[in-house]
Amino acid sequence: MISIKKKSRSVYPIIVPTSYGNVGTINSYILNDGDSLSLVDAGIHTEKYKDALITTLAANGYQISDLSRILLTHHHEDHVGLVNWVLQKKDIPVYAHHEAIPRLMVEREFLVMRKNFFTELYISMGCIEEAQPRLKKLQQTIEHKNEHALQTIIRPLGEGDSILGMKVLETPGHSADSISFYDEERQWLLAGDVVLKTTSSNAIVDPDLKGNRLHTVRQHKESLIRLQQLDVEYLFAGHQEIIEDHQNVISKKLDKIQHKANRLYSVIKEGTYLPKEIAQNLYRHKYNTEFSLVMSEVIGYLDYLEEDGHLKKSLQNGVWHYNAQ
Ligand SMILES: [Zn+2]
Repeated sequence: MISIKKKSRSVYPIIVPTSYGNVGTINSYILNDGDSLSLVDAGIHTEKYKDALITTLAANGYQISDLSRILLTHHHEDHVGLVNWVLQKKDIPVYAHHEAIPRLMVEREFLVMRKNFFTELYISMGCIEEAQPRLKKLQQTIEHKNEHALQTIIRPLGEGDSILGMKVLETPGHSADSISFYDEERQWLLAGDVVLKTTSSNAIVDPDLKGNRLHTVRQHKESLIRLQQLDVEYLFAGHQEIIEDHQNVISKKLDKIQHKANRLYSVIKEGTYLPKEIAQNLYRHKYNTEFSLVMSEVIGYLDYLEEDGHLKKSLQNGVWHYNAQ
């Protein structure tokens, strides 16, 4: 993979094909600012990914011990996989958004809150039976939390901060802690999973640190609009190709969000009131095979439409019913 160079800085992309999900590749990037090397995201925990990191460093004359810091765009496992492995070789600072901290440190109190949040959510959406495997998984994470935690203290970043001359932009939606790093001078944007070239990066329902449900579809849409307005030559994405026409790509993502919202609205307008039935109607067998992603989409779009006044909800026997307005 060719490195990208501008004004005495370089980016060495690590783009590794994967069978993980439908994302195609898992990407991370080494940023050489002329004085030091930063690893932006840390891939997945596999031998193949370790090799890719070592090989990319070596191709440019470096090794793991030359890394000075790790920057994380968000906490998902395909972006933080090698953090502990790198830290074992060299103890370097790790930076992430403050919302990432309890998630990456696998803090018990946070995990318990999150499990309760999802239990209540699935009850109120009328799908608690189908949710049992997901809830079991959340419970297992609580019980095995020490195996997952990052072995370091994370340094928090947020809106208004800058690091290595790059602006930190909060771009939530895909996850509560999604941030992008913007090098305005070079028109480089390291944006994690906010926008991917070919597949849509979904907004995933989650509570914030206080346990409030985030309106993730709206957040994601606003983050996309924000990034679209920036001058960008290269958008270094968390998966798939590096994007060179980000305004175009983002326009398509925004159209898709509108299309999905319209589709969900018509299903409700035609008389499907219950979230579970809306999900089954729209996603068929995927409702069972990809339960948590499907419900996440449906809930995200229900919130989105309700907030805009297109839907009204009422609680009947503890389950929300939605009506088109
Ligand atoms: Zn990802």
